[in-house]
Amino acid sequence: MSKNIVLIYGPQGSGKSTQAKQLAEYLGYKFISSGQTLRELKDAKNPIEERLSSYWIKGDLVPDDLIEEILFPIIEKSDTPGFVIDGYPRTPSQLNSFLSFINMNDFTLDRAVYLDVSQEECLKRLKIRADIENRLDETDEAITTRIIIYFEKTQPLLNVYKNMNILEDIDGERTIEEIQADIRSRFQLTSE
Ligand code: AMP
Repeated sequence: MSKNIVLIYGPQGSGKSTQAKQLAEYLGYKFISSGQTLRELKDAKNPIEERLSSYWIKGDLVPDDLIEEILFPIIEKSDTPGFVIDGYPRTPSQLNSFLSFINMNDFTLDRAVYLDVSQEECLKRLKIRADIENRLDETDEAITTRIIIYFEKTQPLLNVYKNMNILEDIDGERTIEEIQADIRSRFQLTSE
């Protein structure tokens, strides 16, 4: 079955998970967060746990093969017309494997939504979140590393999406409702 893929981007703390979940509900697609999927494996006391912790303590990305082995089967097997994916692909090499995977399966990369939020605002929000949640990768050092990795490795992917004509650039410094309304306005549902 052909599936539509929507990717969501923005720095850590940009609110992309919240927006992605609401968008998935609107489109009738399944929401997948690579980070959340990994965190669930860790909570399940999987043998993978030690490997994950060693990357998270530093704020590093986990290796491509690990994330792909986990995500690709979920995408292949789920019975849904599409996905809103948060957190993958995150590097040029991940994007290359993802594009091959999409082609092989005859899926469509429909849109990449980018939530534009300043680095300063993200850091402010992450510090608040770190006080509430107790994540290994939300110490000050790990947060800083993750933000640096985001701007160095992930943000450049937006140029690729721009050239593919699938990039939706959204002002992410507004209320949750305003942002969601803006995102939804970029998607024409065929039933409407
Ligand atoms: P996130 O919640 O998306 O910020 O992800 C939390 C952590 O999970 C990241 O800092 C990485 O260690 C790992 N992770 C999530 N997605 C990926 C990915 N696509 N590639 C590598 N590591 C990832």
